Amino acid sequence: MNEECLFCKGRLQKQLVTRVQEFEGHWYIIENLPAMVCSQCGETFYTPDAHDRVLDLITGGIEPIRMEVVAVMDASKAS
Ligand SMILES: [Zn+2]
Repeated sequence: MNEECLFCKGRLQKQLVTRVQEFEGHWYIIENLPAMVCSQCGETFYTPDAHDRVLDLITGGIEPIRMEVVAVMDASKAS
């Protein structure tokens, strides 16, 4: 993978991040996912490997470490 940010050409550093992923109408929070994060603008880039790991976790019938209640907002109701 390219070690340079696509947006600002900053340097990418490997970090563990939290990713929110929708799958078949359900939302999943995946913690400690390895990703490349731009040290300059903070943009996060996921490797194809990390993407596969997310899908494996979601579709593999793995027990979640905990459940969270997620607040859902309607932007059309904002003033
Ligand atoms: Zn950047």
